[in-house]
Amino acid sequence: MTELLANYVCGQWQTGTGAGTPLYDPVLGQELVRVSSAGLDLAAAFQFARDTGGAALRALTYAQRAAMLGAAVKVLQSHRDAYYDISVANSGTVKNDTAVDVDGGIYTLSTYAKLGESLGDRRWLLDGEAARLAKDPLFQSQHLLSPTRGVALFINAFNFPSWGLWEKAAPALLSGVPVIIKPATTTAWLTQRMVQDVVNAGIFPAGALSVICGSSAGLMDQLQPFDVVSFTGSAQTAAVIRSHPAVTQHSVRVNIEADSVNSALLLPGEALGSEAIDLLVKEVAREMTVKSGQKCTAIRRVLVPQSLYNHVAQALSARLSKTTVGNPRIESVRMGSVVNREQFVTVQQGLAYLQAQTEVLHDGAQHTLVDADPAVACCVGPTLLGTRNASGSDASDRVHDTEVFGPVATLVPYRDQDLNHALQLIRRGQGSLVASVYGTDHGALARAASELADSHGRVHVISPDVAALQTGHGNVMPQSLHGGPGRAGGGEELGGLRALGFYHRRSAVQASTQVLSQL
Ligand code: NAP
Repeated sequence: MTELLANYVCGQWQTGTGAGTPLYDPVLGQELVRVSSAGLDLAAAFQFARDTGGAALRALTYAQRAAMLGAAVKVLQSHRDAYYDISVANSGTVKNDTAVDVDGGIYTLSTYAKLGESLGDRRWLLDGEAARLAKDPLFQSQHLLSPTRGVALFINAFNFPSWGLWEKAAPALLSGVPVIIKPATTTAWLTQRMVQDVVNAGIFPAGALSVICGSSAGLMDQLQPFDVVSFTGSAQTAAVIRSHPAVTQHSVRVNIEADSVNSALLLPGEALGSEAIDLLVKEVAREMTVKSGQKCTAIRRVLVPQSLYNHVAQALSARLSKTTVGNPRIESVRMGSVVNREQFVTVQQGLAYLQAQTEVLHDGAQHTLVDADPAVACCVGPTLLGTRNASGSDASDRVHDTEVFGPVATLVPYRDQDLNHALQLIRRGQGSLVASVYGTDHGALARAASELADSHGRVHVISPDVAALQTGHGNVMPQSLHGGPGRAGGGEELGGLRALGFYHRRSAVQASTQVLSQL
């Protein structure tokens, strides 16, 4: 039997009972390690984090906690090679895709270390200016943000075992709130290893950082009114979290990042040969293949004027056909596997479901796997679908409702020169994490961005002048908001110091200005 990974709770490494759940290499098929949370005293784990970890963190200033984040960055950087090895083995990712997760996580942590420095030697934050409550200016109201006296429970998705950990833990720890992380079982190894390295380095006070790998049973039952829970995963599990009594009866604050049918839009009026078209094609091909399309922000719908449908279909197919798929350990391979057999089957089913209303423009099944056995490896070639004409786009509902979590996107034509038609189609996604817009007319780009802003957490606008500078449609930068309304879960993460809001309680202190000046 392979090694049973230990959980870290109550300031101690503790292995769960039983044989545990095996984690596999999705390309070679072999078992790697096992995880189990059975037999852990969850009540004690949460109490220890809340009382011991929380008190110790709150006793520190923002600047002191920021310095700890900075120290954690150095530790993680020193073990980077081990994280790459785990990621290749357990997530089936090529080097560039591992970087998105591992280096993206470390970068996010380092960004919060720097942001935290700017908050200085405070233990709470002022929110806006004091406001006069009466004619006499002596009595005023000042809003205060103080770290919640609870624990932050993170329930994460399988696709970002590193970034998903640090993008949540960085603002929580900086806020002074202890963290209990429950990674998705399939890829829990990398999260567990990173926590282990940081814990062993003795950077954070006891109870600040805990990790529970394995079953989620009983975790939500531990939550108390001042705790918070941040969930990333499917809409189905999100509904379970939202309806738990901790949330419905005890007002536990909850943040949900769920699935999302993101779009890329080519504005009307771009002529053949325009740089904007090339930029769109490049980005869509990249987004479809990075992490085998297992990114919550990946482009799923590509909206182009009807007269450019064939041109964009050909250009995209030409790019996608160059994508080598297979064993991520081989230098020439550009795309590894999806995360496990279950996801492999789910992607195939999703493809078949979309194909009932679309045509296949580029067939992923035609990609021969490099150094991988198709009977074992969970590799999926990139597939581009299309709805052919604008009335086809109106008639099909599946493309707007279905997130296939793999290297799959659909080309959706809209009526030429009719931006409103394109916007209507995008809005059928019912709220998404991100839309990207491509064009050359700055005014038209700004108008489209403002039209899309209410239904998207982020709008990524690409004109030729920023072609070499842009950070990518699907790359979540810690400086910008991550989350989306409606079907995307309604959550908000990152966005610089805005992220700290989730871990703080806002209160209005009404007092003499003499008192307020002491705050
Ligand atoms: P999932 O099946 O919903 O699982 C997510 C997490 O919830 C896992 O840690 C899982 O643990 C846990 N879980 C399952 N049942 C639970 C329950 N009853 N109570 C508490 N926790 C429970 O999602 P997934 O398949 O891992 O992730 C894929 C989905 O995540 C995609 O739809 C994708 O769009 C979405 N996603 C969204 C974002 C975003 O930022 N918006 C980012 C990444 C992914 P186990 O693994 O042990 O079952």
